[in-house]
Amino acid sequence: MEKRNIALFTPAFDVEACLDEIRVCLEKGWTGIGFKTLDIEREFGAYIDQPYCHFVNSNTSGIHLIFTLLKMTRNWADGDEVISSATTFVSANHSILHAGLTPVFADIDQTLCTPVAQIERQITPRTRAVLFVPIGGNAAELEQIQALCKARGLVLVLDAAHAAGSRLHGVSLSSYADYSIYSFQAVKNLPTGDSGLITLATAEENELVRHLSWCGINKDTYARSQDGYKWLYSVDEVGYKYNGNSIMASIALVQLKLLDAGNARRRALAALYQSQLAGLAQVQYIAHANEAESSRHLIQLIVQDRNGLIEYLEQQGIGSGVHYRSNSKYPMYAHNRTPVSDTLDEQIISLPCHLKLSDDDVAYVCSHIRQFYQR
Ligand SMILES: *Cc1c(COP(=O)(O)O)cnc(C)c1O
Repeated sequence: MEKRNIALFTPAFDVEACLDEIRVCLEKGWTGIGFKTLDIEREFGAYIDQPYCHFVNSNTSGIHLIFTLLKMTRNWADGDEVISSATTFVSANHSILHAGLTPVFADIDQTLCTPVAQIERQITPRTRAVLFVPIGGNAAELEQIQALCKARGLVLVLDAAHAAGSRLHGVSLSSYADYSIYSFQAVKNLPTGDSGLITLATAEENELVRHLSWCGINKDTYARSQDGYKWLYSVDEVGYKYNGNSIMASIALVQLKLLDAGNARRRALAALYQSQLAGLAQVQYIAHANEAESSRHLIQLIVQDRNGLIEYLEQQGIGSGVHYRSNSKYPMYAHNRTPVSDTLDEQIISLPCHLKLSDDDVAYVCSHIRQFYQR
């Protein structure tokens, strides 16, 4: 077989449509907050069926904003606890800390998500919220977690970085949570350059979060351009500079139109991998609870000799990844005890999954995985 060059992730853009949308901003002379950012808030909001959406510059700042907002409006104390996971991108846990709260890790299971039983074990009198990550778009035990949070008076926040277009029983995963935070980072299912979107529960929060993401200013420049008192604004809070801009929103608007078809293709790729790796004793394919509706951001396996496999695939021109190193192995989070996260950390591998991957590429990857174990 001739050697190929297959990346783990390669974002696909409708280049001409993106450029057309961006051109509108450049010609109008409006590239900042407002204009296209309002369009994406309305359109993505309709897509996930959420009434209050705010477009921000990343998921990381979105998580910080949500927890800052919650702490402020619900009078949470410094150090109050948020149950999170060790198996996630580290910025999510940093954002909890930035808000003055304490991330407490629930351990994962073979889905790489936190099951309800592990979350329940971590509840203390200081627990205020759960930050659940549907890894790769997997809803896992989201419904049971929603029920637990309701019963115990906890806020359920969804780190929806992998979940753009992921559904369960026909509705977006956001429908099961109180708040959610999407990522439109460069290699996510809805790629821009860097941006994200948060969902809020009430009109008041929607208003307040716009001040928080714009330096605490009570009226953004776009709103000010629409009325007589252009120069007049006030500052009520110590805010952040977390707003999204119209260039990123333009790309997001175009990419949103491709999302459902893209996710369907990802599911087809996942099914191909699953069938072509079936029966290989050294490999366990990670299925999703919502397989027919999952965004399938990731295709992951639990394997033997993971590091050897990564190196072997690399030699065949195949990129792979690890999502994620257990955050409990980082010195600053090492006080958490997550034996399953720590063990799977050395056994998980993410295979190439993107819209430029052909069926033939999947066959190439799978035959090399078989060759590796049959050497
Ligand atoms: C990508 C990612 C983030 C961070 O998203 P940004 O938009 O890059 O800040 C957070 N959590 C998870 C699970 C991610 O995959």
